[in-house]
Amino acid sequence: MQSKTSYIEETMTVPDIVGDVGIHAGGTLTVDLDAIATNFRTLQAHVGSAICGAVVKADAYGLGVARVAPALYAAGCRSFFVAHVDEGIALRSHLPARAHIYVLHGPLPGSEVDCVENRLVPILNSLEQLAAWAAVARLRGSRLSGGLQVDTGMARLGLSPRDVEIVRQRQDDLSAIELRLVMSHLACADTPTHPANEAQRAAFAIRCASLPRVPASLSASSGIFLGKPYHHNMVRPGAALFGVAPRLDRPNPMLPVVRLDARVIQVRDVPTGTPVGYGHIVKTTSPARLVTIAMGYADGYLRSGVGRGAAWFCGTPLPIVGRISMDSIVLDATRVPQGAIREGASIEIIGEHRDIGTVAAELGTIGYEVLTSLRHRYHRRYVTGGKAAA
Ligand SMILES: *Cc1c(COP(=O)(O)O)cnc(C)c1O
Repeated sequence: MQSKTSYIEETMTVPDIVGDVGIHAGGTLTVDLDAIATNFRTLQAHVGSAICGAVVKADAYGLGVARVAPALYAAGCRSFFVAHVDEGIALRSHLPARAHIYVLHGPLPGSEVDCVENRLVPILNSLEQLAAWAAVARLRGSRLSGGLQVDTGMARLGLSPRDVEIVRQRQDDLSAIELRLVMSHLACADTPTHPANEAQRAAFAIRCASLPRVPASLSASSGIFLGKPYHHNMVRPGAALFGVAPRLDRPNPMLPVVRLDARVIQVRDVPTGTPVGYGHIVKTTSPARLVTIAMGYADGYLRSGVGRGAAWFCGTPLPIVGRISMDSIVLDATRVPQGAIREGASIEIIGEHRDIGTVAAELGTIGYEVLTSLRHRYHRRYVTGGKAAA
């Protein structure tokens, strides 16, 4: 994270002063809205004349869609994607009327009217969804906006090649809707050399050719970096907006967005041979200074992080000792001088010493899961230009 922000100076140089860290929570999650806006502009510039949308499903990957979506809108984003209808309904209240909201999962049976009333554009993933949306349009006597997803080799969502052929031959359902987008999704975009990328791109071209000529979209964050043939008319990044590296084989072009600090709730000095934490899976091998932080797997720090990695205090790594508990983690702070670390001190979990990718590797997962696991137990801070956002 940029060390020029006033918040970081405050916590790194005077770590045990409470300041703006949220005195009642076990940790503080800081989201840099300017960094999200910059990442959006970076991606928009990268795709040139294609439209850059933003995927803000799952509460903007856990970062808080109520703050993140308006920041993206202010940066120029007009096309937003969520997964579920209820996410779309919630998002509608955070965005100006001009914003387009696409619902990736389409309407589940019975939710079509709510989609209409909230002006959501469902992505229709099956003949059934297409027929249901067309039926609602006929009932209302107006064409309703919708997108179509075609499956090009992921077997997850979207019309099969046979379904596309049926749609092409029987135009009745299609003619009842205002088709706004044809999309598909890449399965292996984070592996640029994977042959599935080119196979999916070719399959998508064939499907698009047998459907009406409307804007087409194939790529999410990683696909954008496969090159111009993958940009089509619109791209749909999510993770890259929030600082996750879109490619693992190159330096991350995205700015970090998230900082996570945990509070120290206890400091103790223990002798050699002291068992630590559940199951006594670790015993100290020399006299040690241990600190307990108020963060655990219920805060999204996955239990798979046992015995791996280190949190940071004023430039010093504090290795994780023993099992991750529900609400706490024990760190080895033997290298920190006595008295330098006290109850209430802030410990960096994600920040300038440890990015999301590092944490993900230590937890045996990907940055996406680190972000979406963070949940709502933290004090949240949104900053712009290094200052707390109003
Ligand atoms: C989640 C999702 C995206 C965004 O993916 P990122 O890898 O986070 O950029 C785009 N399109 C679809 C269909 C998705 O499900």
